[in-house]
Amino acid sequence: MGRRGVVLLGATGSIGHNSLRVIRANSDRLKLVGIAGGSRVEPLAAIAREFGVKHVTLFDQNACHDAKKSGLFDPDVALGTGIEGLNHLATLPEADVVVVAVVGTMGLHPTLAAIEADKEIALASKEVLVLAGKFVMAAAKAKGVQVLPVDSEHNAIFQCLNGAPNHEVARIILTASGGPFRNHTLEQMAGITPEEAVKHPNWSMGTKITVDSSTMANKGLELIEARWLFGMEPNRIRVVVHPQSIIHSMVEYVDGSILAQLSPPSMTFAIQHVLLYPERRAGVDQTLNFEDSMNLEFNPPDLLRFPCLRLAREAMQAAGVAPAVFNAANEVAVDAFLKKRISYLGIGDLIDHTLQKSDNFEPTNLEEVLDIDRSARRISNDLITEHES
Ligand code: NAD
Ligand code: MG
Repeated sequence: MGRRGVVLLGATGSIGHNSLRVIRANSDRLKLVGIAGGSRVEPLAAIAREFGVKHVTLFDQNACHDAKKSGLFDPDVALGTGIEGLNHLATLPEADVVVVAVVGTMGLHPTLAAIEADKEIALASKEVLVLAGKFVMAAAKAKGVQVLPVDSEHNAIFQCLNGAPNHEVARIILTASGGPFRNHTLEQMAGITPEEAVKHPNWSMGTKITVDSSTMANKGLELIEARWLFGMEPNRIRVVVHPQSIIHSMVEYVDGSILAQLSPPSMTFAIQHVLLYPERRAGVDQTLNFEDSMNLEFNPPDLLRFPCLRLAREAMQAAGVAPAVFNAANEVAVDAFLKKRISYLGIGDLIDHTLQKSDNFEPTNLEEVLDIDRSARRISNDLITEHES
């Protein structure tokens, strides 16, 4: 069996780190051929050296300039930058699969470029589908390219579906940890600081997704991600709070049977499933041990305390460009919250007001979606400035 060429966009992040663990343990099956990061030169250089990677992109131009002068990379390593650098990696002839794990919507263009070049997509960056799911999935379908979910919930659903036809499925049920503020009162939530919001009880993840998990905006983004990945109508996608993060999601079939996927809260299970798919091999992390006692708990989500989840569901139901507006407003809001420009509860308010101020329509091309993404960010930023003055 030949080795599959893997390109890793977001190599120095949390998903990147876990992807490297999977690649390291399966070096007879997987070969890392390209890596990209934002601006941190040294960790990227260390990965390039360890795996013998010859194609590296540092998104930040200055960082790329520094990298070229640093002597940290072998002379035969091709160093790229910017969106061209990401697109170059995504279309490398030696790549079979592209892991998209950069923050936010930055992964959109490389994902489309990889699909055009017939590469399989291992998608972690859910924001890509929230922004432009209609166009990404259409492009993948036209090319016969698989978009395999790395997000643990969607990976669980993909495993539980196992190719079942849509009409045999009653609904899909996303589990949510509920985050660190699951039991907070509204009064307590009003005073949450960025330092508190960047800590997650079960998962170790990047900053943006950790804040999203705490507001449940993450589960909202995942509803919309599921809608596109599985072609499922909004009213057939449900959310249940499951604080232990052991069941990663479930599929309810029309006959009433419900299938679940279980594993400890580590992303290596989903990443390995996707990178080796359809092959199964020993995992890199220990799985559950039922010699130990374990309780699994399930509760309905509280949409009053977690308005971001309600707003995401409403945006998904409204369809058109509403999900793109939700996503843009959320990115601006999280950034403003981390910079202490808005309060914790201000995140939901900002998304709500941005949605109210934006027109909704069915986009006919990607440019329209990108325009809406820009205008929604502008509206959100203006609302923050207004609120500050
Ligand atoms: P992270 O912040 O830990 O890492 C982000 C990575 O992207 C870093 O390598 C960073 O250098 C790189 N990066 C940032 N801007 C870039 C740019 N413009 N060009 C190239 N690289 C850039 O984030 P993460 O937690 O690994 O999450 C990555 C994506 O995966 C997000 O979309 C997130 O929603 C999704 N995801 C993460 C997890 C998780 O467990 N961490 C789970 C499910 C989905
Ligand atoms: Mg997830």
